[in-house]
Amino acid sequence: MKNAFLSAAASVAFSALLALTLRPGPVRAAQTAAPSPEQTIAASAAAATEIPLSHAQTYDRSVLLPVLREGETVRMDLHTYLTGVLLAELPPDFSDEARKAQAVACRTYALRSDARRRHEEAAVCTDSACCMGWTDPAAVSAERRAQAEAAVDATDGLAIFYEGRLIDATFFSCSGGMTEDAAAVWGGDLPYLRSVPSPGEEGAAHFSDEKQVSLAEFQSVLRSADPAVSFPEQLGAWVGTVTRTAGGGVDVMVLGGRPFRGTELRKLFGLRSTAFTMTLTDETASFTTSGYGHRVGLSQYGAEAMAREGKSFREILTWYYRGVTVEAVSG
Ligand SMILES: [Zn+2]
Repeated sequence: MKNAFLSAAASVAFSALLALTLRPGPVRAAQTAAPSPEQTIAASAAAATEIPLSHAQTYDRSVLLPVLREGETVRMDLHTYLTGVLLAELPPDFSDEARKAQAVACRTYALRSDARRRHEEAAVCTDSACCMGWTDPAAVSAERRAQAEAAVDATDGLAIFYEGRLIDATFFSCSGGMTEDAAAVWGGDLPYLRSVPSPGEEGAAHFSDEKQVSLAEFQSVLRSADPAVSFPEQLGAWVGTVTRTAGGGVDVMVLGGRPFRGTELRKLFGLRSTAFTMTLTDETASFTTSGYGHRVGLSQYGAEAMAREGKSFREILTWYYRGVTVEAVSG
């Protein structure tokens, strides 16, 4: 799941000027039409969970999202889709408010993707390496399903807006203490995706990680990226100037006489994040990374830390996405 955050958000184009039709407004009137054959997935999940009638008519259940799943585009109601995304993307022991914050971020991501059609015929796919992961709600225990559904229901129809438009609600696993500017990772500045402190993540699995490669591999990886790199006899001369981003990531690191972007080095060496330090010895290059993912937007473990401190999902969202509003989507 964690890799999904990287690739999902990393592949988001930053053509921020693209007009989106969805705007905040009153919750759409409930859909009362008979279900079409395309709603089979939604209907079966709803039946399996025995959703009370009073919950059956909601914004999320009225929106059919084209989802690319196992090579086929299926139309899935947003409620079922978001329930499956929460099941795939968050550990079961997370707090309710963190799960609600994630539900709103994922709803925003899905609706924005629908407006832009990330895939030719589908808004999103269920491949965690491309869009967001999705676990069939019918395939998990009733308890887990109810937990995810509760977060979706509690935030029904809510999405995140900046100046009246759906935001690019990127999220990731763990920042290592500070999130990153969008511009530092993707080159395009978005005012609501700026570096903020993200305390309390120390318990996350990848808060800090080590990775070592042999010096021979280190050289060959860099040579494959740029044959012009050179490695003089003195090891100390292999590393030149290092500049850092606002969020503590490596912006540019000069290696072998050639400047490499932190994002490029992350990819080349398979590092968990761009927030790393590096030490060279006679035999190895050792990387120490902070956090996991692109570190732009909502930190899942940071959200969990805020939730455990008693913060609401709205407080969590407006902390990680600055200057935004959380509002009901209009149809
Ligand atoms: Zn996709």
